[in-house]
Amino acid sequence: MTRDIRAEDDLPDSAAALDFYKKYEPKEIIGRGVSSVVRRCLNKHTGVEYAVKIIDITPERLSTQQLEEIQTSTVKEIDILKKVSGHPNVIALIDCYQSNTFIFLIFDLMKRGELFDYLTEKVTLSEKETRNIMRALLEVVEFLHKMNIVHRDLKPENILLDDEMNIKLSDFGFSCQLEPGQHLRELCGTPGYLAPELLQCSMDDFHIGYGMEVDIWACGVIMYTLLAGSPPFWHRKQMVMLRMIMEGQYSFTSAEWEDRSDCVKDLIARMLVVEPKLRYTAEQALAHPFFQQYFVEEVRHFSPYRKFKAIIWTVLASVRMYYHYRRVKPLTPDIVLRDPYAIRPLRKLVDAAAFRIYGHWVKKGVQQNRAALFENTPRVVLAALTAESEGLDLF
Ligand code: ADP
Ligand code: MG
Repeated sequence: MTRDIRAEDDLPDSAAALDFYKKYEPKEIIGRGVSSVVRRCLNKHTGVEYAVKIIDITPERLSTQQLEEIQTSTVKEIDILKKVSGHPNVIALIDCYQSNTFIFLIFDLMKRGELFDYLTEKVTLSEKETRNIMRALLEVVEFLHKMNIVHRDLKPENILLDDEMNIKLSDFGFSCQLEPGQHLRELCGTPGYLAPELLQCSMDDFHIGYGMEVDIWACGVIMYTLLAGSPPFWHRKQMVMLRMIMEGQYSFTSAEWEDRSDCVKDLIARMLVVEPKLRYTAEQALAHPFFQQYFVEEVRHFSPYRKFKAIIWTVLASVRMYYHYRRVKPLTPDIVLRDPYAIRPLRKLVDAAAFRIYGHWVKKGVQQNRAALFENTPRVVLAALTAESEGLDLF
């Protein structure tokens, strides 16, 4: 059962913390957020493993305003988590405790970690795998939007994977339930995933504000990143990157897009539309032809004649493939040395090896910087915008 947490609660420090330690045994750190540490933990009575998000609210370390902000946002996060709990693709909140110094949120443990790490390991995903992930993600977004809830921090770091590789959306720290007709103005989220209207709004006092469409923009950025292995909007200077976002400047020109279907590019393009009113909704995205493929509704039973025809076609296709294979030039050390990056399997190998050595993706050009994936920390935008308004060049 989840215990109610209110910002004004003044529980004796030891009592709530004691309750937590009585029931759970915290283990190693499995993740870190802006103001939290996530650890694996064990329920002492059942032996079941969970993840505990420990939010530090030590008064000595934080100003009164920071403390208030964290407490208010945690109360909001818990409130929304309770509302959305039960959806198969949303992380389940099991329990929570608050002491004077820490807030403990206990979740189901996602042993396979973040989609971000999975992508790092695989470099790029196939269209088929992207379809499964994006379908589940858009279904959750559709579910949230029907409840007028906007997540505001959709990114691969906040999408977790369970043992069967199902996605679970987590980190509702920036999410918000809108009143009918309400628009938001707050600048929050993670730079590479911010929607143009959210940025415009922070620069123009007369802007009407933004709404749930910002989540679809982030879905477009995620989908592009899964297929290309690098984000659509990136520049060394963050202000330039933010301008690229506001102008919707991205392209499908890198090598990774050569083998991708027009259908998948079309869907991404309909999500990365600068004007929010013209951008696809989650419902429209799910009805796109990209999600209608590979649905085998029934097992077909062929007549003996059709079976015979299928066998003949298979034999002919195999013969053609064999002759094609014979005509293909062998891969010699010369070719490999001249341009290893042009050979797809080698490209993946080089990228993965570079990542292991340098700890980040190696820059391949302005449009293709996988390192950009690792530079996304919330709040940086604010610093960048403040610096620009003060005429500083931070970068
Ligand atoms: P923050 O709001 O501070 O960003 P998150 O809720 O995103 O915190 O958690 C930070 C990280 O901890 C996640 O990106 C993920 O790596 C890990 N994490 C969070 N919840 C779980 C969980 N239930 N199972 C496994 N890892 C988790
Ligand atoms: Mg997070």
